[in-house]
Amino acid sequence: MLAVSLAVPVLAQSLPTSSAADRAEARDIFKQLIEINTTDTPKGSVTAASVAMQKRFLDVGFAPEDVQLLGPAPHKQNLVVRIRAAATPTEKPVLFLCHIDVVEALRSDWTSTDPFEFVEKDGYYYGRGTQDMKESDAVLVATFLRLHREGYKPKRDLILALTADEEGGKFNGANWLVRNHRDLVDAAFVINPDSGGIELNSGKPVLAGVEATEKVYSDFQVIATNRGGHSSLPRPDNAIYELTAALTKLAAYSFPFELNEVTRAAFESAAVHQQGQRAADLRAILATPPDMDAAARLSADPEFNSNFRTTCVATRLKGGHANNALPQTAEANVNCRIFPGHSPEEIRQQLVALFADSKLTVNYVSDGGEVSPTAPERKAIVPPAPTREVFDPLIRITQQIWPGVPVTPVMENGATDSIYFAQAGIPSYGYSAVALERDDVRAHGRDERLPVDSYWKALDFFYSFTRALGGN
Ligand SMILES: [Zn+2]
Repeated sequence: MLAVSLAVPVLAQSLPTSSAADRAEARDIFKQLIEINTTDTPKGSVTAASVAMQKRFLDVGFAPEDVQLLGPAPHKQNLVVRIRAAATPTEKPVLFLCHIDVVEALRSDWTSTDPFEFVEKDGYYYGRGTQDMKESDAVLVATFLRLHREGYKPKRDLILALTADEEGGKFNGANWLVRNHRDLVDAAFVINPDSGGIELNSGKPVLAGVEATEKVYSDFQVIATNRGGHSSLPRPDNAIYELTAALTKLAAYSFPFELNEVTRAAFESAAVHQQGQRAADLRAILATPPDMDAAARLSADPEFNSNFRTTCVATRLKGGHANNALPQTAEANVNCRIFPGHSPEEIRQQLVALFADSKLTVNYVSDGGEVSPTAPERKAIVPPAPTREVFDPLIRITQQIWPGVPVTPVMENGATDSIYFAQAGIPSYGYSAVALERDDVRAHGRDERLPVDSYWKALDFFYSFTRALGGN
């Protein structure tokens, strides 16, 4: 299905670029979004960001019914904006899906800037969300405003949804909208800029990845319990020791190497653009059977490792109740990113088998934080076909901005809201058109930053891409 040729002739025509005024507006929107804290904490409010964007659309004359603020909780309001077709459309809308929440960031963890202050320095924009994904939120808001200002009338409706709680929290806006307001977000397909993009190697674009499938996110709670006692009388059975022994096994364990048609195509493309041992190793893992020594060498790179297999890692720990008492409980969170084709319950059972300790319990923790003794049987989304309607303009415009870069379907190691639309039968393509150095991915981390040049290129990409998808 994905084996179709993705090559399209590149037309010589030059791409429309943004004016100084377009850029000033886009930068102002980006700054405003970064400086509104949208974390799922008492300080954060997605609604504040939605309301600020709603005001921008209403101020330039969008009809109120085309700028809808709605959500299941006062601080988790989503915004759904619509540019209507010129005449009665014959085709379903295109939905641009953008989460506006961000992961918590602490000033004390950042080197020299406040994560909730938009700082331009040394050719970068710094701030929480500059890579994930307020840059895309701002690009799409600026693009919709510009299209409206220019009087653009598409052949089909274009919808922009700015949504809550992709990063966590109890009010996932994408899921809520598709379940409760399908009419507002119903579309032929979704473009989700939360994944995909241009990979740079020392400034040179080497890959334009379009997310075609993604891993499944799952948290597991591992608990050891013990009768406890006085700490002056230690015993070998100890909840903390039992838990840490299990986690030590996990640290040493590697899930089996796997390929699917999406990752195979991505590695074939990557092999062409790599040199030396790495290129040889990439070709060796694509052989039948795959060369496991080559897989092991490549797995030293966390990106390759995560694209090769299910991964599970301990991310939180607590235990004990007093300095002078033997611990009665110890508990860890194990976060897994599951390779498509496996369910969370299958992985839970593998963890139980790996720990091989009947005194340990492995529970599933839902996105909302509820703990249950078994996990869902749900597997990853089936990759959608690379429809020409999406890929032709995507490749053409990408190659106008980054000439010669190969466009390849990829598997996202993280997880996005695309799954809720895929489950509702609406195919979703992940593409940000944001260019980042392979070793400068700082999403969720400290000193998150985006090259200024990458911002302008994404802005130019989405202006032409929305027009191409909208027709006219
Ligand atoms: Zn994201």
